[in-house]
Amino acid sequence: MISEQKLVFGTVCKITGDKKVPFNEIWSSLEDLEEKISMNQPSSELSRVNENAGIQKVEVSQETYNTVQDALYYSDLTEGFFNPVLGSVIQLWKNGPDFAVLPEISDIQEGLKHTDVTKIKLSEAEGKFYIYLEDPGMKFDLGGIGKGIAADLVKKILKEHKIDSALINLGGNIYGVGLKENDEKWNIGIQNPLDERGSYLKIVSVDDKSVVTSGSYERNFIEDGVLYHHILDPRTGMSANNGIISSTIINESSTACDALSTACYVMGIDKAVKIIKSLKGFEAIFVLETGEIVQVSGDENENY
Ligand code: AMP
Ligand code: MG
Repeated sequence: MISEQKLVFGTVCKITGDKKVPFNEIWSSLEDLEEKISMNQPSSELSRVNENAGIQKVEVSQETYNTVQDALYYSDLTEGFFNPVLGSVIQLWKNGPDFAVLPEISDIQEGLKHTDVTKIKLSEAEGKFYIYLEDPGMKFDLGGIGKGIAADLVKKILKEHKIDSALINLGGNIYGVGLKENDEKWNIGIQNPLDERGSYLKIVSVDDKSVVTSGSYERNFIEDGVLYHHILDPRTGMSANNGIISSTIINESSTACDALSTACYVMGIDKAVKIIKSLKGFEAIFVLETGEIVQVSGDENENY
Protein backbone atom coordinates (compact mmCIF):
# COMPACT_ATOMS: atom_id res chain seq x y z
CA MET A 1 0.00 0.00 0.00
CA ILE A 2 1.21 3.49 -0.79
CA SER A 3 -0.05 6.86 0.38
CA GLU A 4 -0.06 10.37 -0.96
CA GLN A 5 -1.27 13.45 0.81
CA LYS A 6 -2.05 17.02 -0.15
CA LEU A 7 -3.64 20.11 1.29
CA VAL A 8 -7.11 20.38 -0.25
CA PHE A 9 -10.20 22.14 1.16
CA GLY A 10 -7.91 23.71 3.75
CA THR A 11 -7.26 20.32 5.24
CA VAL A 12 -4.81 17.45 4.85
CA CYS A 13 -6.17 14.88 2.47
CA LYS A 14 -4.51 11.48 2.47
CA ILE A 15 -5.23 8.57 0.14
CA THR A 16 -3.84 5.10 0.74
CA GLY A 17 -4.10 2.29 -1.77
CA ASP A 18 -2.12 0.19 -4.20
CA LYS A 19 -0.01 1.64 -6.99
CA LYS A 20 -2.93 1.70 -9.42
CA VAL A 21 -4.55 4.59 -7.49
CA PRO A 22 -4.82 7.51 -9.98
CA PHE A 23 -3.43 10.09 -7.54
CA ASN A 24 -3.03 12.85 -10.13
CA GLU A 25 -6.60 12.50 -11.35
CA ILE A 26 -7.85 12.55 -7.74
CA TRP A 27 -5.90 15.68 -6.80
CA SER A 28 -6.98 17.57 -9.88
CA SER A 29 -10.62 16.53 -9.39
CA LEU A 30 -10.50 17.75 -5.78
CA GLU A 31 -8.96 21.06 -6.87
CA ASP A 32 -11.70 21.33 -9.47
CA LEU A 33 -14.34 20.71 -6.78
CA GLU A 34 -12.73 23.44 -4.66
CA GLU A 35 -13.09 25.85 -7.57
CA LYS A 36 -16.79 25.05 -7.49
CA ILE A 37 -17.95 24.84 -3.89
CA SER A 38 -15.21 26.22 -1.63
CA MET A 39 -16.00 29.37 0.28
CA ASN A 40 -12.31 30.04 0.90
CA GLN A 41 -11.76 30.43 -2.82
CA PRO A 42 -13.09 33.87 -3.86
CA SER A 43 -13.32 32.72 -7.48
CA SER A 44 -15.33 29.57 -6.72
CA GLU A 45 -18.81 29.21 -8.17
CA LEU A 46 -20.46 29.40 -4.76
CA SER A 47 -18.42 32.46 -3.77
CA ARG A 48 -19.77 34.13 -6.89
CA VAL A 49 -23.30 33.08 -5.95
CA ASN A 50 -22.67 34.69 -2.53
CA GLU A 51 -21.37 37.90 -4.11
CA ASN A 52 -24.44 38.10 -6.32
CA ALA A 53 -26.94 37.54 -3.51
CA GLY A 54 -29.93 39.83 -4.01
CA ILE A 55 -28.50 40.95 -7.37
CA GLN A 56 -28.75 38.17 -9.93
CA LYS A 57 -28.71 34.43 -10.50
CA VAL A 58 -25.37 32.85 -11.31
CA GLU A 59 -24.75 30.04 -13.76
CA VAL A 60 -23.04 27.11 -12.05
CA SER A 61 -21.84 23.63 -13.02
CA GLN A 62 -24.14 20.67 -12.57
CA GLU A 63 -21.84 19.46 -9.77
CA THR A 64 -22.34 22.65 -7.76
CA TYR A 65 -26.07 22.53 -8.46
CA ASN A 66 -26.30 18.92 -7.27
CA THR A 67 -24.25 19.75 -4.17
CA VAL A 68 -26.68 22.50 -3.21
CA GLN A 69 -29.61 20.17 -3.87
CA ASP A 70 -28.01 17.61 -1.54
CA ALA A 71 -27.41 20.28 1.10
CA LEU A 72 -31.08 21.30 0.91
CA TYR A 73 -32.16 17.69 1.17
CA TYR A 74 -30.21 17.28 4.45
CA SER A 75 -31.46 20.62 5.71
CA ASP A 76 -34.99 19.39 5.20
CA LEU A 77 -34.31 15.93 6.66
CA THR A 78 -32.83 17.47 9.83
CA GLU A 79 -35.54 20.12 10.32
CA GLY A 80 -33.03 22.86 9.54
CA PHE A 81 -30.42 21.82 12.11
CA PHE A 82 -28.12 21.45 9.11
CA ASN A 83 -28.28 24.86 7.45
CA PRO A 84 -26.19 25.47 4.28
CA VAL A 85 -26.71 29.26 4.40
CA LEU A 86 -25.35 30.05 7.84
CA GLY A 87 -22.53 32.02 6.18
CA SER A 88 -23.70 35.40 7.48
CA VAL A 89 -23.32 34.13 11.05
CA ILE A 90 -20.29 31.87 10.56
CA GLN A 91 -18.20 34.74 9.12
CA LEU A 92 -18.66 36.69 12.37
CA TRP A 93 -16.88 33.95 14.30
CA LYS A 94 -13.94 33.71 11.96
CA ASN A 95 -10.55 35.33 11.82
CA GLY A 96 -9.27 34.17 8.43
CA PRO A 97 -9.74 30.39 8.38
CA ASP A 98 -9.72 30.18 12.19
CA PHE A 99 -12.77 30.05 14.35
CA ALA A 100 -11.56 32.59 16.89
CA VAL A 101 -13.83 35.59 17.51
CA LEU A 102 -16.72 35.91 19.94
CA PRO A 103 -19.18 38.13 18.03
CA GLU A 104 -21.47 40.81 19.45
CA ILE A 105 -24.94 39.42 20.17
CA SER A 106 -26.47 42.18 18.04
CA ASP A 107 -24.35 41.10 15.04
CA ILE A 108 -25.45 37.50 15.53
CA GLN A 109 -29.10 38.60 15.68
CA GLU A 110 -28.63 40.51 12.43
CA GLY A 111 -26.78 37.59 10.78
CA LEU A 112 -29.55 35.15 11.76
CA LYS A 113 -32.04 37.16 9.70
CA HIS A 114 -30.26 35.94 6.57
CA THR A 115 -30.36 32.17 7.01
CA ASP A 116 -33.74 31.24 5.54
CA VAL A 117 -33.17 28.30 3.15
CA THR A 118 -36.39 29.05 1.25
CA LYS A 119 -34.58 32.08 -0.19
CA ILE A 120 -32.27 29.76 -2.15
CA LYS A 121 -33.63 29.61 -5.68
CA LEU A 122 -32.49 26.85 -8.02
CA SER A 123 -33.39 26.88 -11.71
CA GLU A 124 -32.55 24.96 -14.85
CA ALA A 125 -32.96 26.10 -18.44
CA GLU A 126 -31.67 24.68 -21.71
CA GLY A 127 -29.25 22.37 -19.97
CA LYS A 128 -27.82 25.19 -17.84
CA PHE A 129 -27.97 25.44 -14.06
CA TYR A 130 -28.50 28.57 -11.99
CA ILE A 131 -28.48 29.48 -8.32
CA TYR A 132 -29.83 32.70 -6.87
CA LEU A 133 -29.83 33.86 -3.27
CA GLU A 134 -32.87 36.09 -3.02
CA ASP A 135 -31.75 37.70 0.23
CA PRO A 136 -28.83 40.12 -0.30
CA GLY A 137 -27.43 39.36 3.17
CA MET A 138 -27.35 35.60 2.59
CA LYS A 139 -24.23 33.46 2.15
CA PHE A 140 -23.61 29.78 1.54
CA ASP A 141 -21.20 27.98 3.84
CA LEU A 142 -20.87 24.31 2.96
CA GLY A 143 -18.14 23.61 5.52
CA GLY A 144 -20.48 21.10 7.17
CA ILE A 145 -20.89 18.89 4.08
CA GLY A 146 -17.99 19.73 1.72
CA LYS A 147 -15.55 17.10 2.93
CA GLY A 148 -18.24 14.43 2.58
CA ILE A 149 -18.94 15.53 -0.99
CA ALA A 150 -15.19 15.41 -1.67
CA ALA A 151 -14.77 11.94 -0.12
CA ASP A 152 -17.65 10.58 -2.23
CA LEU A 153 -16.02 12.08 -5.33
CA VAL A 154 -12.72 10.33 -4.56
CA LYS A 155 -14.53 7.05 -3.97
CA LYS A 156 -16.32 7.44 -7.33
CA ILE A 157 -12.99 7.96 -9.13
CA LEU A 158 -11.51 4.90 -7.40
CA LYS A 159 -14.50 2.77 -8.43
CA GLU A 160 -14.22 4.00 -12.03
CA HIS A 161 -10.65 2.71 -11.98
CA LYS A 162 -11.87 -0.58 -10.49
CA ILE A 163 -9.90 -0.02 -7.30
CA ASP A 164 -11.72 -1.89 -4.59
CA SER A 165 -9.39 -1.33 -1.65
CA ALA A 166 -8.32 2.11 -0.43
CA LEU A 167 -8.52 4.44 2.53
CA ILE A 168 -9.55 8.05 2.08
CA ASN A 169 -8.88 10.50 4.91
CA LEU A 170 -10.06 14.02 4.24
CA GLY A 171 -9.12 15.86 7.42
CA GLY A 172 -10.71 13.21 9.62
CA ASN A 173 -13.59 12.52 7.27
CA ILE A 174 -12.84 8.86 6.53
CA TYR A 175 -13.89 6.45 3.79
CA GLY A 176 -12.79 2.82 3.99
CA VAL A 177 -13.28 1.73 0.37
CA GLY A 178 -13.98 -2.02 0.04
CA LEU A 179 -11.88 -4.17 2.37
CA LYS A 180 -8.20 -4.03 3.25
CA GLU A 181 -5.76 -5.95 1.00
CA ASN A 182 -5.95 -8.90 3.38
CA ASP A 183 -9.76 -8.87 3.10
CA GLU A 184 -10.21 -7.63 6.64
CA LYS A 185 -12.38 -4.66 7.48
CA TRP A 186 -10.88 -1.20 7.91
CA ASN A 187 -10.40 -0.20 11.54
CA ILE A 188 -11.24 3.43 12.13
CA GLY A 189 -10.49 5.09 15.46
CA ILE A 190 -13.07 7.48 16.87
CA GLN A 191 -11.38 10.33 18.70
CA ASN A 192 -12.13 10.52 22.42
CA PRO A 193 -13.51 14.07 22.65
CA LEU A 194 -12.40 14.37 26.27
CA ASP A 195 -8.83 13.23 25.68
CA GLU A 196 -5.81 14.30 23.69
CA ARG A 197 -5.77 13.93 19.92
CA GLY A 198 -5.03 10.40 18.77
CA SER A 199 -6.57 8.84 21.85
CA TYR A 200 -9.48 6.73 20.73
CA LEU A 201 -12.78 6.17 22.35
CA LYS A 202 -13.55 3.21 20.20
CA ILE A 203 -12.42 1.47 17.03
CA VAL A 204 -15.08 0.73 14.44
CA SER A 205 -14.53 -1.87 11.72
CA VAL A 206 -16.10 -1.00 8.41
CA ASP A 207 -16.49 -2.52 4.97
CA ASP A 208 -16.96 0.03 2.18
CA LYS A 209 -18.29 2.75 4.43
CA SER A 210 -17.55 6.28 5.50
CA VAL A 211 -17.05 7.32 9.13
CA VAL A 212 -17.46 11.00 9.91
CA THR A 213 -17.21 12.74 13.28
CA SER A 214 -18.20 16.26 14.29
CA GLY A 215 -16.80 17.43 17.59
CA SER A 216 -16.34 20.56 19.65
CA TYR A 217 -12.72 19.54 20.28
CA GLU A 218 -11.89 20.98 16.87
CA ARG A 219 -11.71 24.59 15.70
CA ASN A 220 -12.53 26.10 19.08
CA PHE A 221 -11.36 28.72 21.55
CA ILE A 222 -11.94 29.54 25.20
CA GLU A 223 -13.00 32.99 26.34
CA ASP A 224 -13.80 33.80 29.98
CA GLY A 225 -13.74 30.11 30.75
CA VAL A 226 -16.35 29.24 28.10
CA LEU A 227 -15.58 26.93 25.18
CA TYR A 228 -16.77 28.27 21.85
CA HIS A 229 -16.56 25.99 18.81
CA HIS A 230 -17.40 25.85 15.12
CA ILE A 231 -20.65 23.87 15.13
CA LEU A 232 -23.41 26.43 15.42
CA ASP A 233 -27.02 26.13 16.48
CA PRO A 234 -28.95 27.76 13.61
CA ARG A 235 -31.61 28.91 16.09
CA THR A 236 -29.22 31.01 18.16
CA GLY A 237 -26.10 31.52 16.05
CA MET A 238 -24.07 30.35 19.06
CA SER A 239 -21.89 27.25 19.43
CA ALA A 240 -24.23 24.30 19.83
CA ASN A 241 -24.52 23.27 23.43
CA ASN A 242 -27.18 20.64 23.55
CA GLY A 243 -25.53 17.82 25.49
CA ILE A 244 -23.66 16.07 22.65
CA ILE A 245 -19.89 16.68 22.45
CA SER A 246 -19.07 14.29 19.63
CA SER A 247 -21.26 12.86 16.90
CA THR A 248 -20.11 10.07 14.57
CA ILE A 249 -22.13 8.75 11.63
CA ILE A 250 -21.38 5.62 9.56
CA ASN A 251 -22.88 5.00 6.10
CA GLU A 252 -21.97 4.40 2.43
CA SER A 253 -22.57 8.07 1.65
CA SER A 254 -19.91 10.32 3.11
CA THR A 255 -22.05 13.31 2.14
CA ALA A 256 -24.88 11.97 4.31
CA CYS A 257 -22.46 11.20 7.17
CA ASP A 258 -21.00 14.69 7.05
CA ALA A 259 -24.31 16.56 6.98
CA LEU A 260 -25.89 14.31 9.61
CA SER A 261 -22.91 14.37 11.98
CA THR A 262 -23.08 18.15 12.05
CA ALA A 263 -26.89 18.25 12.37
CA CYS A 264 -27.08 15.53 15.05
CA TYR A 265 -24.46 17.33 17.10
CA VAL A 266 -26.73 20.37 17.18
CA MET A 267 -30.14 18.74 17.63
CA GLY A 268 -29.39 16.95 20.90
CA ILE A 269 -29.51 13.26 21.78
CA ASP A 270 -33.27 12.54 21.70
CA LYS A 271 -33.85 13.88 18.23
CA ALA A 272 -30.51 12.51 16.98
CA VAL A 273 -31.37 8.96 18.09
CA LYS A 274 -34.81 9.26 16.51
CA ILE A 275 -33.50 10.44 13.16
CA ILE A 276 -30.75 7.79 12.88
CA LYS A 277 -33.22 5.03 13.85
CA SER A 278 -35.52 6.19 11.08
CA LEU A 279 -32.85 5.88 8.39
CA LYS A 280 -31.97 2.61 6.72
CA GLY A 281 -28.31 1.65 6.78
CA PHE A 282 -27.08 4.32 9.19
CA GLU A 283 -25.16 3.86 12.41
CA ALA A 284 -24.13 6.47 14.94
CA ILE A 285 -22.01 6.91 18.04
CA PHE A 286 -22.72 9.95 20.20
CA VAL A 287 -20.70 11.07 23.19
CA LEU A 288 -22.59 13.14 25.72
CA GLU A 289 -21.11 15.80 27.99
CA THR A 290 -21.74 13.43 30.89
CA GLY A 291 -19.25 11.02 29.27
CA GLU A 292 -22.00 8.57 28.34
CA ILE A 293 -21.67 6.89 24.94
CA VAL A 294 -24.85 6.25 22.97
CA GLN A 295 -24.74 3.86 20.00
CA VAL A 296 -27.61 3.68 17.54
CA SER A 297 -28.39 1.59 14.47
CA GLY A 298 -30.88 2.55 11.84
CA ASP A 299 -33.29 0.12 10.21
CA GLU A 300 -31.95 -3.31 9.17
CA ASN A 301 -28.30 -2.85 10.05
CA GLU A 302 -25.55 -5.32 10.43
CA ASN A 303 -23.37 -4.42 13.38
CA TYR A 304 -19.87 -3.12 12.81
P1 AMP B 1 -18.46 19.70 10.62
O1 AMP B 1 -17.04 19.84 11.00
O2 AMP B 1 -18.72 18.84 9.44
O3 AMP B 1 -19.36 19.38 11.75
O4 AMP B 1 -18.93 21.12 10.07
C1 AMP B 1 -18.79 22.29 10.78
C2 AMP B 1 -18.63 23.40 9.80
O5 AMP B 1 -19.87 23.57 9.09
C3 AMP B 1 -18.34 24.72 10.47
O6 AMP B 1 -16.96 25.00 10.46
C4 AMP B 1 -19.15 25.71 9.65
O7 AMP B 1 -18.43 26.08 8.49
C5 AMP B 1 -20.35 24.89 9.20
N1 AMP B 1 -21.47 24.84 10.15
C6 AMP B 1 -21.50 25.15 11.48
N2 AMP B 1 -22.71 24.93 12.01
C7 AMP B 1 -23.49 24.44 11.00
C8 AMP B 1 -24.85 24.02 10.92
N3 AMP B 1 -25.66 24.02 11.97
N4 AMP B 1 -25.29 23.61 9.70
C9 AMP B 1 -24.50 23.59 8.62
N5 AMP B 1 -23.20 23.97 8.63
C10 AMP B 1 -22.70 24.40 9.81
MG1 MG C 1 -20.32 17.73 8.84
